Amino acid sequence: MSTLEGNNLIDGKAIAEKTKAEVVTEMAELKAGGIEPKLAAVQVGENAASAVYVKQQKKNCEKAGILYELKTLAANITEEQLLSEVEKLNGDASVTGIILQLPLPQGMDMRKIQAAISPRKDVEGVNPANMGWIVYGKPFLAPCTALAVKEIVDSTGIDLYGKEVVMVGHSDIVGKPVALLLVDKFATVSICHIGTSKAGMLEEHVRRADILIVAVGKANLIPGAWIKKGAVVVDVGINRVEDKIVGDVEFETAKENASLITPVPGGVGPVTTAILLRNVVRAAKWAKQQ
Ligand code: NAD
Repeated sequence: MSTLEGNNLIDGKAIAEKTKAEVVTEMAELKAGGIEPKLAAVQVGENAASAVYVKQQKKNCEKAGILYELKTLAANITEEQLLSEVEKLNGDASVTGIILQLPLPQGMDMRKIQAAISPRKDVEGVNPANMGWIVYGKPFLAPCTALAVKEIVDSTGIDLYGKEVVMVGHSDIVGKPVALLLVDKFATVSICHIGTSKAGMLEEHVRRADILIVAVGKANLIPGAWIKKGAVVVDVGINRVEDKIVGDVEFETAKENASLITPVPGGVGPVTTAILLRNVVRAAKWAKQQ
């Protein structure tokens, strides 16, 4: 299936379908080998946004034939109790993947809990060991959105060697890993962030980009006029503006300059969802190889 939606839109749903088809094949192989992948999600307290996410996760797993278990823990649980729940899941051979739902209650050290998840079951790639493998150029289980961006860039068929990649946003789960994943393709990668904007340098960097990736969370941060003619634009941002979901790039004008651009919604989001399933399958495979 083409990744292009008629004109210059990158069809995230089509890329996601391709990944999901791979998941179906790998699931069949795993099941034939007697392996039953199971994802355990840990949620502390109730949270409306997280509840929607969890429901969707369950549905996606069930569709793919992956077992799904949600562990909802009391909001007043201590950090030690949460760590002990994670340890239980690490030691449970029937659980092949673990997700820690965010946000955690105030005062809990998110990094400490993420670091406690067994790297082999860490399907969101948030454990420092998995982050470290990205630095080594051997992503094992990397953050799903970062892998989704790489998948999208790969789908364009563009040779990154010597190209100018500009990554706007430097979060641990998107900006930093994306930059590392693409620098290994010998692109020249610049990472921009709030400091770049405050220094009045954002436009200069963006205008140079052959491949522009934006993960900030501010609607219309990047005016379409800044996009270099022929650039590839991957917009990770999700912003609610009135009743609509939009990205970080001023889409209508950016589309005129870009050779390829992801829409929001329908770009990075569906690919991220599919990559999570692929990570779950991979983790299950590796668990068996231990
Ligand atoms: P974050 O919120 O952790 O960090 C934001 C980044 O933007 C930081 O690097 C910050 O320095 C930078 N920034 C803030 N203001 C800026 C400005 N004016 N100019 C330049 N840089 C600026 O980032 P995140 O968790 O990666 O999320 C970013 C966006 O991506 C959000 O909208 C989030 O909802 C979305 N997101 C989408 C998916 C998906 O699957 N589509 C997944 C994860 C995140």
